Amino acid sequence: MEGDKRPAVFLDRDGVLIQERSYVCSVAEMCIFPFAEECITKIKKKGYYSIVITNQSGIARGLFSEYDLQKMNEYLIRKTGVDAIYYCPHHPNGIVEKYRKKCSCRKPQSGLLDRACVDFDIDMKRSYMAGDRASDILAGQRACIKTVLLESGYGTAHLEEPVTPDFIFNDLRDMIKIL
Ligand SMILES: [Zn+2]
Repeated sequence: MEGDKRPAVFLDRDGVLIQERSYVCSVAEMCIFPFAEECITKIKKKGYYSIVITNQSGIARGLFSEYDLQKMNEYLIRKTGVDAIYYCPHHPNGIVEKYRKKCSCRKPQSGLLDRACVDFDIDMKRSYMAGDRASDILAGQRACIKTVLLESGYGTAHLEEPVTPDFIFNDLRDMIKIL
């Protein structure tokens, strides 16, 4: 019996918790959705961890630093109450050498999900990955969890490649109704 394990709702950041824009480089550019905090509270109340899984190649591209991102992460945690934020700072064509690599943590790879699973001892069978892009859905499928495509960012109209999520909803408010 794995009764003690808790599931998680893994969340992409941009287009899910904050407004999508090409690169969010500072706290001042973060526009958190007005419903975000309430949704996170409900996710936690229903017994799920809420864990952000985000590609942040702006670091590898030299647009902002890891320190800048830490400030953004602290702000997001304070404003929404998410349990943790896992990020990939890499990009294979980055200009900052330290972060220029083909890694296994950048979505659509599932490295960040795998790491969070171990850190929090998560019941993956009952977990979800929610995001607005094909890479979110593919990462969730690689981790063998249920996937949810949200229209609050890129959504179905702007998919980089065809994917088949388990669910499609307008935004996080609709998604949490199935928990
Ligand atoms: Zn990475």
